[in-house]
Amino acid sequence: MSSSASSFVNGGISFWYADDGIPVAREPLPGDATADVVIVGGGYTGLWTAYYLKKAAPFLRITVLEQKFCGYGASGRNGGWLYNGVAGRDRYAKLHGREAAVRLQQAMNDTVDEVIAVAAAEGIDADVHKGGVLEVATTPAQLARLKAFHEHELSYGEKDRELYGARETAERIRVADAVGSAWTPHGARLNPVKLVKGLAATVEGLGVVIHEMTPVTEIRPKHAVTPYGTVRAPYVLRCTEGFTASLKGQKRTWLPMNSSMIATEPLTEAQWAAIGWDGRETLGDMAHAYMYAQRTADDRIALGGRGMPYRFGSRTDNDGRTQQATVEALRDILVRFFPSLAGARVTHAWSGVLGVPRDWCATVTLDRSTGLGWAGGYVGSGVATTNLAARTLRDLVRQDSGQAGRTALTDLPWVGHKVRKWEPEPFRWLGVHGMYATYHTADRRERRHPGTESSRLAKAADRVAGRG
Ligand SMILES: Cc1cc2nc3c(=O)[nH]c(=O)nc-3n(C[C@H](O)[C@H](O)[C@H](O)COP(=O)(O)OP(=O)(O)OC[C@H]3O[C@@H](n4cnc5c(N)ncnc54)[C@H](O)[C@@H]3O)c2cc1C
Repeated sequence: MSSSASSFVNGGISFWYADDGIPVAREPLPGDATADVVIVGGGYTGLWTAYYLKKAAPFLRITVLEQKFCGYGASGRNGGWLYNGVAGRDRYAKLHGREAAVRLQQAMNDTVDEVIAVAAAEGIDADVHKGGVLEVATTPAQLARLKAFHEHELSYGEKDRELYGARETAERIRVADAVGSAWTPHGARLNPVKLVKGLAATVEGLGVVIHEMTPVTEIRPKHAVTPYGTVRAPYVLRCTEGFTASLKGQKRTWLPMNSSMIATEPLTEAQWAAIGWDGRETLGDMAHAYMYAQRTADDRIALGGRGMPYRFGSRTDNDGRTQQATVEALRDILVRFFPSLAGARVTHAWSGVLGVPRDWCATVTLDRSTGLGWAGGYVGSGVATTNLAARTLRDLVRQDSGQAGRTALTDLPWVGHKVRKWEPEPFRWLGVHGMYATYHTADRRERRHPGTESSRLAKAADRVAGRG
Protein backbone atom coordinates (compact mmCIF):
# COMPACT_ATOMS: atom_id res chain seq x y z
CA MET A 1 0.00 0.00 0.00
CA SER A 2 1.23 3.49 -0.71
CA SER A 3 0.16 7.03 0.02
CA SER A 4 3.04 8.68 -1.82
CA ALA A 5 1.77 8.56 -5.40
CA SER A 6 1.19 11.91 -7.10
CA SER A 7 -2.59 11.50 -6.94
CA PHE A 8 -2.53 11.45 -3.15
CA VAL A 9 -4.38 14.47 -1.69
CA ASN A 10 -3.81 15.52 1.91
CA GLY A 11 -6.38 18.12 2.99
CA GLY A 12 -8.54 19.84 0.37
CA ILE A 13 -11.06 20.06 3.24
CA SER A 14 -11.95 16.37 2.77
CA PHE A 15 -12.22 13.53 0.29
CA TRP A 16 -15.97 14.21 0.08
CA TYR A 17 -15.22 17.38 -1.93
CA ALA A 18 -12.97 15.57 -4.41
CA ASP A 19 -15.61 15.04 -7.11
CA ASP A 20 -17.34 18.43 -7.22
CA GLY A 21 -14.59 20.61 -5.73
CA ILE A 22 -14.94 23.29 -3.09
CA PRO A 23 -18.23 25.16 -3.59
CA VAL A 24 -18.31 28.80 -4.72
CA ALA A 25 -19.14 30.77 -1.58
CA ARG A 26 -22.40 32.66 -1.22
CA GLU A 27 -22.27 36.46 -0.79
CA PRO A 28 -20.94 37.74 2.55
CA LEU A 29 -23.02 39.93 4.83
CA PRO A 30 -23.24 43.32 3.05
CA GLY A 31 -23.66 45.42 6.22
CA ASP A 32 -25.77 45.77 9.38
CA ALA A 33 -28.99 43.77 9.26
CA THR A 34 -31.87 42.50 11.38
CA ALA A 35 -33.57 39.11 11.64
CA ASP A 36 -35.87 37.18 13.95
CA VAL A 37 -33.28 34.45 14.43
CA VAL A 38 -29.60 34.58 13.56
CA ILE A 39 -27.70 31.31 13.40
CA VAL A 40 -23.91 31.29 13.62
CA GLY A 41 -22.38 28.34 11.75
CA GLY A 42 -23.44 26.59 8.55
CA GLY A 43 -22.93 22.95 9.53
CA TYR A 44 -25.64 20.38 10.22
CA THR A 45 -26.64 22.00 13.54
CA GLY A 46 -27.14 25.45 12.07
CA LEU A 47 -28.77 24.29 8.84
CA TRP A 48 -31.12 21.74 10.47
CA THR A 49 -32.14 24.43 12.97
CA ALA A 50 -32.89 26.87 10.15
CA TYR A 51 -34.79 24.11 8.34
CA TYR A 52 -37.05 23.12 11.22
CA LEU A 53 -37.71 26.69 12.38
CA LYS A 54 -38.65 27.82 8.89
CA LYS A 55 -40.87 24.79 8.35
CA ALA A 56 -42.65 25.40 11.66
CA ALA A 57 -42.95 29.18 11.24
CA PRO A 58 -42.47 30.27 7.60
CA PHE A 59 -42.88 33.93 8.56
CA LEU A 60 -39.62 33.93 10.60
CA ARG A 61 -36.74 35.89 9.11
CA ILE A 62 -33.75 33.62 9.62
CA THR A 63 -30.15 34.47 8.76
CA VAL A 64 -27.25 31.98 8.80
CA LEU A 65 -23.73 33.43 9.11
CA GLU A 66 -20.92 31.09 8.07
CA GLN A 67 -17.22 31.96 8.32
CA LYS A 68 -16.22 30.03 5.17
CA PHE A 69 -18.86 27.98 3.34
CA CYS A 70 -21.60 25.63 4.54
CA GLY A 71 -19.98 22.27 5.22
CA TYR A 72 -16.52 23.68 5.89
CA GLY A 73 -16.44 22.11 9.36
CA ALA A 74 -17.00 18.59 10.63
CA SER A 75 -20.25 18.34 8.65
CA GLY A 76 -18.19 18.31 5.46
CA ARG A 77 -15.46 16.01 6.74
CA ASN A 78 -17.00 13.25 8.87
CA GLY A 79 -17.09 9.49 8.48
CA GLY A 80 -20.72 9.46 7.36
CA TRP A 81 -21.94 7.30 10.21
CA LEU A 82 -25.54 8.38 10.70
CA TYR A 83 -26.17 6.46 13.91
CA ASN A 84 -27.92 6.58 17.25
CA GLY A 85 -25.02 7.31 19.61
CA VAL A 86 -25.20 10.44 21.75
CA ALA A 87 -22.36 11.75 23.89
CA GLY A 88 -23.15 11.88 27.60
CA ARG A 89 -26.15 9.55 27.78
CA ASP A 90 -24.82 7.60 30.78
CA ARG A 91 -24.04 10.77 32.65
CA TYR A 92 -27.54 12.05 31.96
CA ALA A 93 -28.87 8.78 33.41
CA LYS A 94 -26.91 9.50 36.60
CA LEU A 95 -28.04 13.14 36.75
CA HIS A 96 -31.68 12.82 35.68
CA GLY A 97 -32.55 9.15 36.14
CA ARG A 98 -32.62 6.20 33.81
CA GLU A 99 -36.05 6.94 32.35
CA ALA A 100 -34.91 10.35 31.09
CA ALA A 101 -31.82 8.84 29.46
CA VAL A 102 -33.93 6.11 27.85
CA ARG A 103 -36.13 8.85 26.33
CA LEU A 104 -32.99 10.52 24.94
CA GLN A 105 -31.83 7.21 23.46
CA GLN A 106 -35.24 6.51 21.97
CA ALA A 107 -35.26 9.97 20.40
CA MET A 108 -31.82 9.24 18.92
CA ASN A 109 -32.99 5.92 17.46
CA ASP A 110 -35.88 7.78 15.78
CA THR A 111 -33.53 10.52 14.57
CA VAL A 112 -31.67 8.17 12.23
CA ASP A 113 -34.94 7.55 10.38
CA GLU A 114 -35.92 11.24 10.58
CA VAL A 115 -32.76 12.29 8.73
CA ILE A 116 -33.29 9.62 6.09
CA ALA A 117 -36.96 10.58 5.66
CA VAL A 118 -36.38 14.34 5.41
CA ALA A 119 -33.48 13.89 3.00
CA ALA A 120 -35.74 11.76 0.78
CA ALA A 121 -38.67 14.20 1.07
CA GLU A 122 -36.46 17.16 0.12
CA GLY A 123 -34.80 15.34 -2.76
CA ILE A 124 -31.36 15.27 -1.11
CA ASP A 125 -29.48 12.26 -2.47
CA ALA A 126 -26.75 11.67 0.11
CA ASP A 127 -25.87 8.08 -0.87
CA VAL A 128 -27.72 6.83 2.20
CA HIS A 129 -27.62 3.09 2.84
CA LYS A 130 -29.17 1.83 6.07
CA GLY A 131 -27.10 -1.25 6.82
CA GLY A 132 -26.77 -0.70 10.56
CA VAL A 133 -23.58 -0.42 12.63
CA LEU A 134 -21.17 -3.33 13.13
CA GLU A 135 -18.64 -3.02 15.93
CA VAL A 136 -15.94 -5.68 16.05
CA ALA A 137 -13.63 -6.98 18.77
CA THR A 138 -10.16 -8.21 17.78
CA THR A 139 -8.75 -9.10 21.24
CA PRO A 140 -10.21 -10.91 24.28
CA ALA A 141 -10.23 -7.62 26.23
CA GLN A 142 -12.16 -5.95 23.40
CA LEU A 143 -14.58 -8.88 23.32
CA ALA A 144 -15.27 -8.49 27.03
CA ARG A 145 -15.92 -4.76 26.49
CA LEU A 146 -18.10 -5.54 23.47
CA LYS A 147 -20.32 -7.92 25.45
CA ALA A 148 -20.64 -5.43 28.30
CA PHE A 149 -21.41 -2.66 25.79
CA HIS A 150 -24.06 -4.82 24.12
CA GLU A 151 -25.78 -5.55 27.45
CA HIS A 152 -25.57 -1.88 28.35
CA GLU A 153 -27.30 -0.86 25.11
CA LEU A 154 -30.04 -3.44 25.68
CA SER A 155 -30.63 -1.86 29.08
CA TYR A 156 -31.52 1.39 27.25
CA GLY A 157 -34.36 -0.37 25.51
CA GLU A 158 -32.68 -1.32 22.23
CA LYS A 159 -34.32 -4.67 21.56
CA ASP A 160 -33.23 -5.18 17.98
CA ARG A 161 -29.44 -5.41 18.32
CA GLU A 162 -27.45 -8.63 17.92
CA LEU A 163 -24.24 -10.17 19.19
CA TYR A 164 -22.16 -12.26 16.76
CA GLY A 165 -19.37 -14.77 17.19
CA ALA A 166 -16.29 -14.91 14.95
CA ARG A 167 -18.00 -16.92 12.19
CA GLU A 168 -21.11 -14.71 11.96
CA THR A 169 -18.91 -11.62 11.99
CA ALA A 170 -16.91 -12.96 9.04
CA GLU A 171 -20.14 -13.62 7.16
CA ARG A 172 -20.72 -9.85 7.23
CA ILE A 173 -17.19 -8.39 7.10
CA ARG A 174 -13.96 -10.39 7.17
CA VAL A 175 -11.87 -8.38 9.63
CA ALA A 176 -8.59 -10.16 10.46
CA ASP A 177 -8.51 -11.55 14.01
CA ALA A 178 -12.13 -10.59 14.71
CA VAL A 179 -13.36 -12.67 17.63
CA GLY A 180 -16.88 -11.23 17.72
CA SER A 181 -19.03 -8.22 16.94
CA ALA A 182 -22.23 -6.43 17.85
CA TRP A 183 -24.70 -5.08 15.31
CA THR A 184 -27.48 -2.55 15.64
CA PRO A 185 -29.92 -1.61 12.87
CA HIS A 186 -29.93 2.05 14.02
CA GLY A 187 -27.29 3.28 11.64
CA ALA A 188 -26.75 4.23 8.02
CA ARG A 189 -23.83 5.17 5.84
CA LEU A 190 -24.01 8.46 3.97
CA ASN A 191 -21.94 10.99 2.05
CA PRO A 192 -21.63 13.90 4.52
CA VAL A 193 -21.02 16.61 1.94
CA LYS A 194 -24.00 15.63 -0.19
CA LEU A 195 -26.13 15.97 2.95
CA VAL A 196 -24.77 19.36 4.01
CA LYS A 197 -24.87 20.83 0.50
CA GLY A 198 -28.39 19.56 0.00
CA LEU A 199 -29.49 21.01 3.32
CA ALA A 200 -28.01 24.44 2.54
CA ALA A 201 -29.79 24.52 -0.82
CA THR A 202 -33.04 23.35 0.78
CA VAL A 203 -33.11 26.00 3.50
CA GLU A 204 -32.21 28.69 0.98
CA GLY A 205 -35.14 27.49 -1.11
CA LEU A 206 -37.37 27.95 1.94
CA GLY A 207 -36.30 31.60 2.22
CA VAL A 208 -33.52 31.40 4.80
CA VAL A 209 -30.75 33.95 4.13
CA ILE A 210 -27.23 32.46 4.13
CA HIS A 211 -24.14 34.67 4.19
CA GLU A 212 -20.84 32.86 3.70
CA MET A 213 -17.26 34.11 4.16
CA THR A 214 -18.66 35.98 7.15
CA PRO A 215 -16.86 35.18 10.41
CA VAL A 216 -18.69 36.12 13.57
CA THR A 217 -16.17 37.55 16.02
CA GLU A 218 -18.45 38.01 18.98
CA ILE A 219 -21.86 36.82 20.07
CA ARG A 220 -23.72 38.84 22.69
CA PRO A 221 -27.42 39.09 23.53
CA LYS A 222 -29.36 40.07 20.39
CA HIS A 223 -26.12 40.67 18.40
CA ALA A 224 -23.90 38.64 16.09
CA VAL A 225 -20.90 40.82 15.32
CA THR A 226 -18.89 40.39 12.09
CA PRO A 227 -16.21 42.52 10.37
CA TYR A 228 -18.85 43.53 7.78
CA GLY A 229 -21.63 44.55 10.12
CA THR A 230 -23.78 43.31 12.97
CA VAL A 231 -26.93 41.24 12.67
CA ARG A 232 -29.43 42.08 15.39
CA ALA A 233 -32.06 39.50 16.35
CA PRO A 234 -34.00 38.48 19.48
CA TYR A 235 -32.44 35.01 19.19
CA VAL A 236 -28.79 34.33 18.43
CA LEU A 237 -27.97 30.61 18.13
CA ARG A 238 -24.35 29.45 18.34
CA CYS A 239 -23.79 26.37 16.18
CA THR A 240 -20.02 26.45 15.88
CA GLU A 241 -19.01 23.11 17.52
CA GLY A 242 -15.23 22.51 17.21
CA PHE A 243 -14.60 26.17 16.26
CA THR A 244 -16.33 27.63 19.32
CA ALA A 245 -13.01 28.44 21.02
CA SER A 246 -12.33 31.14 18.40
CA LEU A 247 -15.30 33.22 19.58
CA LYS A 248 -14.70 35.97 22.13
CA GLY A 249 -15.14 34.60 25.66
CA GLN A 250 -15.46 30.93 24.55
CA LYS A 251 -11.81 29.83 24.55
CA ARG A 252 -12.29 27.09 27.19
CA THR A 253 -15.93 26.13 26.48
CA TRP A 254 -15.51 23.16 24.14
CA LEU A 255 -12.13 21.68 23.38
CA PRO A 256 -11.46 21.33 19.63
CA MET A 257 -10.48 17.65 19.23
CA ASN A 258 -9.08 16.45 15.91
CA SER A 259 -10.28 13.40 14.09
CA SER A 260 -8.54 12.24 10.92
CA MET A 261 -9.50 10.03 8.03
CA ILE A 262 -8.09 8.33 4.95
CA ALA A 263 -9.82 6.98 1.85
CA THR A 264 -8.54 4.24 -0.42
CA GLU A 265 -8.84 4.13 -4.17
CA PRO A 266 -12.02 2.36 -5.37
CA LEU A 267 -11.47 -1.32 -4.64
CA THR A 268 -11.89 -4.03 -7.25
CA GLU A 269 -14.52 -6.76 -7.20
CA ALA A 270 -11.83 -9.26 -6.26
CA GLN A 271 -10.73 -7.13 -3.33
CA TRP A 272 -14.33 -6.84 -2.13
CA ALA A 273 -14.81 -10.58 -2.55
CA ALA A 274 -12.01 -11.11 -0.01
CA ILE A 275 -13.55 -8.67 2.46
CA GLY A 276 -17.30 -9.16 2.11
CA TRP A 277 -19.08 -6.03 3.48
CA ASP A 278 -22.06 -6.50 1.14
CA GLY A 279 -24.38 -5.04 3.79
CA ARG A 280 -22.48 -1.73 3.79
CA GLU A 281 -22.72 -1.49 7.57
CA THR A 282 -20.70 1.26 9.15
CA LEU A 283 -17.76 -0.46 10.81
CA GLY A 284 -16.12 0.32 14.14
CA ASP A 285 -14.05 -1.44 16.77
CA MET A 286 -13.74 -1.65 20.53
CA ALA A 287 -10.19 -0.30 20.89
CA HIS A 288 -9.75 2.52 23.42
CA ALA A 289 -8.48 4.72 20.57
CA TYR A 290 -11.24 3.41 18.32
CA MET A 291 -11.49 3.41 14.53
CA TYR A 292 -14.56 4.01 12.35
CA ALA A 293 -15.07 3.21 8.68
CA GLN A 294 -17.56 3.00 5.86
CA ARG A 295 -17.74 1.42 2.42
CA THR A 296 -18.41 4.44 0.21
CA ALA A 297 -20.90 4.62 -2.62
CA ASP A 298 -18.01 4.42 -5.10
CA ASP A 299 -16.58 1.33 -3.35
CA ARG A 300 -13.66 2.79 -1.42
CA ILE A 301 -13.01 2.37 2.26
CA ALA A 302 -13.04 5.61 4.22
CA LEU A 303 -11.51 5.02 7.65
CA GLY A 304 -10.88 7.33 10.59
CA GLY A 305 -9.35 7.52 14.02
CA ARG A 306 -7.88 9.99 16.43
CA GLY A 307 -4.40 10.91 15.06
CA MET A 308 -2.96 13.98 16.75
CA PRO A 309 -5.83 14.71 19.10
CA TYR A 310 -5.46 18.35 20.02
CA ARG A 311 -3.43 21.44 19.12
CA PHE A 312 -1.98 23.66 21.81
CA GLY A 313 -4.10 26.71 22.61
CA SER A 314 -7.29 25.26 21.06
CA ARG A 315 -6.04 26.08 17.55
CA THR A 316 -8.03 24.60 14.68
CA ASP A 317 -6.77 23.69 11.24
CA ASN A 318 -7.43 25.46 7.96
CA ASP A 319 -7.91 23.08 5.11
CA GLY A 320 -8.08 19.63 6.71
CA ARG A 321 -4.44 18.72 6.16
CA THR A 322 -3.26 16.02 8.52
CA GLN A 323 0.19 14.82 9.65
CA GLN A 324 1.98 12.12 7.69
CA ALA A 325 2.37 10.09 10.91
CA THR A 326 -1.43 10.05 11.27
CA VAL A 327 -1.85 8.91 7.65
CA GLU A 328 0.58 6.06 8.32
CA ALA A 329 -1.18 5.10 11.56
CA LEU A 330 -4.58 4.96 9.85
CA ARG A 331 -3.11 2.99 6.94
CA ASP A 332 -1.68 0.51 9.47
CA ILE A 333 -5.14 0.02 10.98
CA LEU A 334 -6.59 -0.53 7.49
CA VAL A 335 -4.02 -3.22 6.69
CA ARG A 336 -4.32 -4.79 10.14
CA PHE A 337 -8.06 -5.11 9.58
CA PHE A 338 -7.81 -6.16 5.93
CA PRO A 339 -4.37 -7.66 5.16
CA SER A 340 -5.48 -8.37 1.58
CA LEU A 341 -5.44 -4.58 1.01
CA ALA A 342 -1.68 -4.31 1.57
CA GLY A 343 -1.30 -3.30 -2.08
CA ALA A 344 -4.26 -0.90 -2.32
CA ARG A 345 -3.58 2.82 -2.63
CA VAL A 346 -4.63 5.49 -0.14
CA THR A 347 -5.72 8.46 -2.26
CA HIS A 348 -6.95 10.98 0.34
CA ALA A 349 -6.28 12.01 3.93
CA TRP A 350 -7.88 14.79 5.93
CA SER A 351 -8.86 15.90 9.40
CA GLY A 352 -11.49 17.99 11.14
CA VAL A 353 -12.48 19.19 14.58
CA LEU A 354 -15.07 17.96 17.04
CA GLY A 355 -16.33 19.92 20.04
CA VAL A 356 -15.61 18.26 23.41
CA PRO A 357 -17.15 19.67 26.61
CA ARG A 358 -15.31 19.13 29.92
CA ASP A 359 -17.73 16.32 30.90
CA TRP A 360 -18.07 14.90 27.33
CA CYS A 361 -21.86 15.54 27.30
CA ALA A 362 -23.67 17.01 24.28
CA THR A 363 -26.07 19.84 25.15
CA VAL A 364 -28.87 22.01 23.78
CA THR A 365 -29.63 25.27 25.57
CA LEU A 366 -31.65 28.44 25.14
CA ASP A 367 -31.06 31.07 27.78
CA ARG A 368 -34.46 32.66 28.10
CA SER A 369 -33.13 35.84 29.72
CA THR A 370 -30.77 36.68 26.85
CA GLY A 371 -32.13 34.87 23.79
CA LEU A 372 -28.73 33.20 23.34
CA GLY A 373 -28.88 29.54 22.40
CA TRP A 374 -26.43 26.84 21.45
CA ALA A 375 -26.19 23.17 20.65
CA GLY A 376 -23.15 20.95 20.37
CA GLY A 377 -20.40 19.20 22.28
CA TYR A 378 -21.31 16.07 20.33
CA VAL A 379 -17.75 14.71 20.62
CA GLY A 380 -17.61 12.13 17.77
CA SER A 381 -21.36 11.54 17.35
CA GLY A 382 -22.96 14.43 15.55
CA VAL A 383 -24.27 13.30 12.18
CA ALA A 384 -27.62 12.26 13.66
CA THR A 385 -27.39 14.13 16.99
CA THR A 386 -27.30 17.52 15.23
CA ASN A 387 -30.76 16.82 13.83
CA LEU A 388 -32.26 16.05 17.24
CA ALA A 389 -30.47 19.09 18.69
CA ALA A 390 -31.87 21.30 15.92
CA ARG A 391 -35.45 20.13 16.44
CA THR A 392 -34.97 20.78 20.14
CA LEU A 393 -33.63 24.31 19.50
CA ARG A 394 -36.67 24.92 17.29
CA ASP A 395 -39.00 23.89 20.12
CA LEU A 396 -37.11 25.99 22.68
CA VAL A 397 -37.30 29.12 20.48
CA ARG A 398 -40.98 28.56 19.75
CA GLN A 399 -41.71 27.96 23.42
CA ASP A 400 -39.84 31.09 24.46
CA SER A 401 -41.53 33.27 21.84
CA GLY A 402 -44.97 31.99 22.81
CA GLN A 403 -45.56 30.13 19.53
CA ALA A 404 -45.72 26.73 21.22
CA GLY A 405 -45.57 25.06 24.62
CA ARG A 406 -43.35 22.42 26.16
CA THR A 407 -42.70 19.39 23.99
CA ALA A 408 -41.21 15.94 24.44
CA LEU A 409 -37.97 17.38 23.08
CA THR A 410 -37.74 20.36 25.44
CA ASP A 411 -38.02 17.87 28.33
CA LEU A 412 -35.02 15.76 27.24
CA PRO A 413 -32.28 15.59 29.88
CA TRP A 414 -29.57 17.27 27.77
CA VAL A 415 -31.55 20.53 27.59
CA GLY A 416 -30.00 23.34 29.62
CA HIS A 417 -27.11 21.19 30.89
CA LYS A 418 -24.28 23.21 32.43
CA VAL A 419 -20.65 22.16 32.65
CA ARG A 420 -17.47 23.81 33.84
CA LYS A 421 -14.86 25.09 31.40
CA TRP A 422 -11.67 23.29 30.42
CA GLU A 423 -8.44 24.03 32.28
CA PRO A 424 -6.15 26.78 30.93
CA GLU A 425 -3.02 25.79 28.97
CA PRO A 426 -0.71 23.95 29.35
CA PHE A 427 -2.97 21.65 31.41
CA ARG A 428 -5.51 21.30 28.60
CA TRP A 429 -2.85 20.12 26.14
CA LEU A 430 -1.13 17.86 28.67
CA GLY A 431 -4.42 16.27 29.76
CA VAL A 432 -5.67 15.40 26.26
CA HIS A 433 -2.32 14.21 24.94
CA GLY A 434 -1.79 12.16 28.09
CA MET A 435 -5.21 10.57 27.70
CA TYR A 436 -4.66 9.51 24.08
CA ALA A 437 -1.08 8.33 24.70
CA THR A 438 -2.53 6.15 27.46
CA TYR A 439 -5.28 4.79 25.18
CA HIS A 440 -2.72 3.82 22.52
CA THR A 441 -0.50 2.14 25.13
CA ALA A 442 -3.51 0.28 26.55
CA ASP A 443 -4.53 -0.92 23.06
CA ARG A 444 -1.00 -2.14 22.31
CA ARG A 445 -0.84 -3.91 25.67
CA GLU A 446 -4.18 -5.64 25.05
CA ARG A 447 -2.97 -6.85 21.64
CA ARG A 448 0.35 -8.16 22.99
CA HIS A 449 -0.91 -9.67 26.25
CA PRO A 450 -4.36 -10.98 25.48
CA GLY A 451 -6.00 -11.23 28.91
CA THR A 452 -9.70 -10.48 29.03
CA GLU A 453 -9.52 -7.58 31.42
CA SER A 454 -9.66 -4.08 29.98
CA SER A 455 -6.46 -2.22 30.67
CA ARG A 456 -6.59 -0.37 33.99
CA LEU A 457 -4.53 2.34 32.32
CA ALA A 458 -7.38 3.24 29.96
CA LYS A 459 -9.90 3.28 32.79
CA ALA A 460 -7.68 5.67 34.74
CA ALA A 461 -7.33 7.92 31.66
CA ASP A 462 -11.13 8.00 31.33
CA ARG A 463 -11.50 9.18 34.90
CA VAL A 464 -8.82 11.87 34.59
CA ALA A 465 -10.34 13.19 31.34
CA GLY A 466 -13.83 13.38 32.80
CA ARG A 467 -15.21 10.58 30.60
CA GLY A 468 -15.56 7.86 33.22
C1 LIG B 1 -13.09 13.55 10.80
C2 LIG B 1 -14.43 13.51 11.51
C3 LIG B 1 -15.19 12.35 11.43
C4 LIG B 1 -16.44 12.29 12.06
N1 LIG B 1 -17.22 11.18 11.86
C5 LIG B 1 -18.46 11.15 12.39
C6 LIG B 1 -19.33 10.07 12.08
O1 LIG B 1 -19.00 9.20 11.28
N2 LIG B 1 -20.55 10.04 12.69
C7 LIG B 1 -20.95 11.01 13.56
O2 LIG B 1 -22.05 10.92 14.11
N3 LIG B 1 -20.18 12.11 13.79
C8 LIG B 1 -18.96 12.20 13.21
N4 LIG B 1 -18.19 13.31 13.40
C9 LIG B 1 -18.76 14.43 14.15
C10 LIG B 1 -19.77 15.21 13.30
O3 LIG B 1 -19.26 15.42 12.01
C11 LIG B 1 -20.06 16.55 13.97
O4 LIG B 1 -20.51 16.32 15.29
C12 LIG B 1 -21.11 17.38 13.27
O5 LIG B 1 -20.82 17.52 11.90
C13 LIG B 1 -21.21 18.73 13.94
O6 LIG B 1 -21.99 19.60 13.15
P1 LIG B 1 -22.04 21.12 13.54
O7 LIG B 1 -22.89 21.80 12.55
O8 LIG B 1 -22.42 21.27 14.97
O9 LIG B 1 -20.53 21.60 13.45
P2 LIG B 1 -19.60 21.91 12.09
O10 LIG B 1 -20.00 20.99 11.03
O11 LIG B 1 -18.24 21.93 12.57
O12 LIG B 1 -20.14 23.32 11.69
C14 LIG B 1 -19.77 24.48 12.36
C15 LIG B 1 -19.74 25.56 11.30
O13 LIG B 1 -19.61 26.81 11.95
C16 LIG B 1 -18.72 27.61 11.19
N5 LIG B 1 -18.17 28.58 12.13
C17 LIG B 1 -17.38 28.31 13.18
N6 LIG B 1 -17.07 29.43 13.83
C18 LIG B 1 -17.68 30.43 13.18
C19 LIG B 1 -17.74 31.84 13.38
N7 LIG B 1 -17.08 32.43 14.37
N8 LIG B 1 -18.48 32.59 12.53
C20 LIG B 1 -19.17 31.99 11.51
N9 LIG B 1 -19.12 30.67 11.27
C21 LIG B 1 -18.40 29.89 12.10
C22 LIG B 1 -17.69 26.62 10.67
O14 LIG B 1 -17.00 27.12 9.54
C23 LIG B 1 -18.55 25.42 10.36
O15 LIG B 1 -19.01 25.41 9.03
C24 LIG B 1 -16.92 13.40 12.80
C25 LIG B 1 -16.16 14.57 12.87
C26 LIG B 1 -14.92 14.63 12.23
C27 LIG B 1 -14.12 15.89 12.31
